[in-house]
Amino acid sequence: MDSTDRQFSTGDALFGEARSPLGILNRVYGYPAFRGKQQQVVEHVVSGGDAVVLFPTGAGKSLCFQIPALCREGVGIIVSPLIALMRDQVEAMKQLGIRAAALNSSLSREEFVEVRRALAAGKLDLLYVTPERILMDGFRDTIGNSKIALFAIDEAHCVSQWGHDFRPEYRELGRLAEHYPGVPRIALTATADPHTRDDIAERLGLSNAKIFTTSFDRPNISYEIVERDQPRQQLLRFLSGHKGNSGIVYCLSRAKVEDTAEWLNGQGIRALPYHAGMDRALRDANQDAFLREEDLCLVATVAFGMGIDKPNVRYVAHLDLPGSVEAYYQETGRAGRDGLPSEVWMAYGMADVIQRRRMIDEGAAADEIKRVERSKLNALLAICETASCRRQAILAHFGEAHAGNCGSCDTCLKPVETWDGTDAAIKALAAVYRTGERFGTGHVVDVLLGNSNEKTERFGHTSMPVFGAGKDVPSRTWQSVFRQLLAMGLIRVDHDAYGALKLEPEARAVFKHERQVFFRKDRPASERRTKKTAQAAERRSVLSGGDGVLFEALRAERTSIAKSLGVPPYVVFPDTTLIAFASERPRTHKEMLGISGVGQSKLERYGDAFLDVILSHDD
Ligand code: ADP
Ligand code: ZN
Repeated sequence: MDSTDRQFSTGDALFGEARSPLGILNRVYGYPAFRGKQQQVVEHVVSGGDAVVLFPTGAGKSLCFQIPALCREGVGIIVSPLIALMRDQVEAMKQLGIRAAALNSSLSREEFVEVRRALAAGKLDLLYVTPERILMDGFRDTIGNSKIALFAIDEAHCVSQWGHDFRPEYRELGRLAEHYPGVPRIALTATADPHTRDDIAERLGLSNAKIFTTSFDRPNISYEIVERDQPRQQLLRFLSGHKGNSGIVYCLSRAKVEDTAEWLNGQGIRALPYHAGMDRALRDANQDAFLREEDLCLVATVAFGMGIDKPNVRYVAHLDLPGSVEAYYQETGRAGRDGLPSEVWMAYGMADVIQRRRMIDEGAAADEIKRVERSKLNALLAICETASCRRQAILAHFGEAHAGNCGSCDTCLKPVETWDGTDAAIKALAAVYRTGERFGTGHVVDVLLGNSNEKTERFGHTSMPVFGAGKDVPSRTWQSVFRQLLAMGLIRVDHDAYGALKLEPEARAVFKHERQVFFRKDRPASERRTKKTAQAAERRSVLSGGDGVLFEALRAERTSIAKSLGVPPYVVFPDTTLIAFASERPRTHKEMLGISGVGQSKLERYGDAFLDVILSHDD
């Protein structure tokens, strides 16, 4: 056996002579059945068709290209933008007995030669490459005469500048069809934004490809959005339901990421920062720690997250408002890939809206794009301020109907009362108008409340009829009224005028008593955090008694195996498989194979180690 054989062993014996999709699913992955439209995609690509796959995170997109690559002759080439994650992706495949390798700039000369030899010898099932490399002249030489089973373009939304992860190199992938005619191509993304979806098909030359979509609902994720008053305390309360869990806290700025991570550590919550301004090695190390450890909070800017396939991210918190519903959905979507209950939470306030507006207005984008960005921000604001089901509102944004009453968002779990705010709206709009549409929320609220101060006096606002017209309503409610007027499109924030509120044409109908306005009632501070938005929360609550104890022991075994291999624990087995071990307690290899997630290769590698743990907990 030469070194190539050792590195890339297994192969036909594992897959069986007839490489049927279902046979591979059962034997290699250990899964009993395809999910959703997986089988349709697999069959289409196996028979040589092109495909665009639009499934939400956690739906199981990877199998859609991995299995066809194994069924078809030749090597499947996966275009993936993230070098830092390729090693884990390759390792996860190897654990399944699949012969996988990566080609990227981090390889040593020897490693490169080894990959090339394996390719030439037909000993590779999957090859992960970066988009820039695949179109280099040298790539053709590397491939040589090897047969290519398919091209899979992962994170395909990177091709679109509407998306938030635009990568110019992706544009070039449109030329793959010219370079490699007749090889099926499959593009995959979790993006729900219609603009981006159209762009993918067009830019990648996949206009004739078959498009596969599913519902974008993520039923295992529960949603909560709160008004920010004491963000750190609010965050702490949210995290108190997640002891021992892994999660992500998103912040807008690098400085806030650093401060928040430091503060959380001071509060006894293990947290690491991640943002694009950090030293690269440290940033990669923190990402690695997040993937490999089980109870870490990663505090990050949006620079973090694309392609992260850690399945047991149990929560995602936003300390600042994201820029759009699309961004919010992508970021929150990183929770609960494994299908187990997960919680997402956001705290936001008027200041966020103003800051986001400034970022758009001061950005370099063309006016047309700025206009779209502003309306995207408003759409998110409307979801934040809705009094009805958040899941329904989010899905509606993506053109998907949902009956509402999902039972796992804050507004469903604790219905929000609404009040007829027509009079209040008129007062608020009048205050904006009378003060000349030149002031921000703080000042306008002062005028409504009749607060005499240097500014209200200097501008002569104290003598206006609106001064004090809203005394009977507390300041917090006025803040909320202005946020909701903004969400309803009755006012806007003007950035060129330092955040001054301006009236929108739609406000006229309210003034003229032609339109009634209902506001959501903010919850009193004392009851603002519903104890637990869902049953999510602590991992241990999934299993009770002896099963919980066994689960912890299995987890410890998994940690030690993963450490010795230098891989993230979920590469050994996901939580879902360990939970099944703990509750079903298989006692033989055969019984183990009956558990979802246990295929031939993993049974051989780890079956005995986990059986020992199970048998030693027999009582
Ligand atoms: P996506 O790329 O769509 O976010 P993944 O491909 O990472 O999703 O799959 C999410 C999780 O679901 C993974 O742990 C994967 O192994 C698992 N999975 C995928 N398909 C199936 C299936 N048919 N049966 C059981 N588990 C599956
Ligand atoms: Zn709901």
